[in-house]
Amino acid sequence: MTVLTKVRKLKNFINGEWVESKTTQYEDVYNPATKEVIAQVPLSTKEEVDFAAEVAQKAFETWKNVPVQKRARILFNYQQLLQKNQEELARLITLENGKNTSEALGEVGRGIENVEFAAGAPTLMMGDSLPNIATDVEATNYRYPIGVVGGITPFNFPMMVPCWMFPMAIAMGNSFIMKPSEKTPLLTEKLADLLAEAGLPNGVFNLVYGAHDVVNGILDHPNVKAISFVGSQPVGEYVYKRGSENLKRVQALTGAKNHTTVLKDADLDAAVKDVIASAFGSAGERCMACAVVTVEDEVADKFMAKLKEAADNVKMGNGLDDGVFLGPVIREENQKRTLDYIEKGINEGATLVRDGRKDDLDGGFFVGPTIFEGVTTDMTIWKDEIFAPVLSVIRVSNLKEAVELANQSEFANGACLFSTNASSIRYFRENIDAGMLGINLGVPAPMAFFPFSGWKSSFYGTLHANGKDGVDFYTRKKVVTARYAAPKFN
Ligand code: NAD
Repeated sequence: MTVLTKVRKLKNFINGEWVESKTTQYEDVYNPATKEVIAQVPLSTKEEVDFAAEVAQKAFETWKNVPVQKRARILFNYQQLLQKNQEELARLITLENGKNTSEALGEVGRGIENVEFAAGAPTLMMGDSLPNIATDVEATNYRYPIGVVGGITPFNFPMMVPCWMFPMAIAMGNSFIMKPSEKTPLLTEKLADLLAEAGLPNGVFNLVYGAHDVVNGILDHPNVKAISFVGSQPVGEYVYKRGSENLKRVQALTGAKNHTTVLKDADLDAAVKDVIASAFGSAGERCMACAVVTVEDEVADKFMAKLKEAADNVKMGNGLDDGVFLGPVIREENQKRTLDYIEKGINEGATLVRDGRKDDLDGGFFVGPTIFEGVTTDMTIWKDEIFAPVLSVIRVSNLKEAVELANQSEFANGACLFSTNASSIRYFRENIDAGMLGINLGVPAPMAFFPFSGWKSSFYGTLHANGKDGVDFYTRKKVVTARYAAPKFN
């Protein structure tokens, strides 16, 4: 950690004001494509979370009573502002995360869809009723907000993942404390600014920058009633356990090791194109990235030849430059960790078909597209989430073997199948362990109105992010059972 005076120090956003953190600790924020320090982010203290939690509680008492359509109207304003600023938002994403401009614009679009979905709050918040559950007795189920909600997010989707959380939370009438990744804090600063511009009352959305002290502050504060976490498996498990122990509602969306199966009847060119986009897009730093391909023996040679050729043609560089597909990984330690995994893959006996270490890695935290063959389930590169542009390929004799192999993973986030055979597709759907499936596409990330639903170690909790689960997560219910004696008429 260095202290640079010329680099802008970010401030927290609490009660509608940008306030300097009381911490003495700041962390450098990098442009991973150039290694340049572009800002410094405060590692705020627990006391600052306490303050935000007090402010948020106070704001909640008023905000929960604002008519739902008025709350929704602020989200309509916000949607317009996000649309207007989409290029600036995308530029910020590329600057601090490294993904290319087109991926960044796609991410902004996904975030906006969450806002649009949440703006349907008047309909989404409606309860249900039955007029006649017994003689003269009716029952009605009402939905209410829960209170202060905490959101903790990863570096890989600085816009989309926060937008899974706060738009729906505040539309439902909750107030919010956001703790974004300390590696990508700039985009959240812009999101907070635009929320204020959209007319959100002070204290409903608060932003506290930092790392584990802020997370622990959120996990322990009695005002915080629900926590949405997205990040790595060990941290998600920790957040889920500590938050639950403190009797909070917690959802934790965590790591992945997504398998893609290519069958002999698949359109191989389309499969190769989508696998390349999934495995190497966003530098492999997507929880829905393809990490392992299982390919049927009969087409494996052909598939491998096409895959290698396509990987050789991937243009790596600064995501802001035209035509660049593969940007850097987020930090030097991620780059080093990935190079160590490549070494480990070789030492454990896998065959390195394409060596991303040989590409030009200078200038930023780059790793070239890397492909292993002959990978087995006892190898570290098969077990661990590498979260970088490293792809493992395994030859299988049929779909059953592919499914059994994938199901040995501790993770079960996404899985894809390339096939034109309906029976195979149905078999895959019924037997694969994963919450999000793709058929003849590479990144089956569900849209805002569907749940983002990992299984096994890829998710802790009950209600997933987004869709109707999101509505349920950010509301609690009250059921009124009422007797109305029939009026007596003369
Ligand atoms: P991370 O777990 O390192 O960080 C996530 C958040 O947790 C950050 O805000 C960070 O500050 C905080 N944090 C980190 N260490 C902590 C600790 N010891 N105690 C308390 N808080 C801590 O994850 P990351 O590297 O930013 O993101 C990549 C991970 O996120 C990958 O594993 C990826 O699969 C996962 N991810 C999952 C999904 C999903 O939907 N399942 C979506 C996006 C990313």
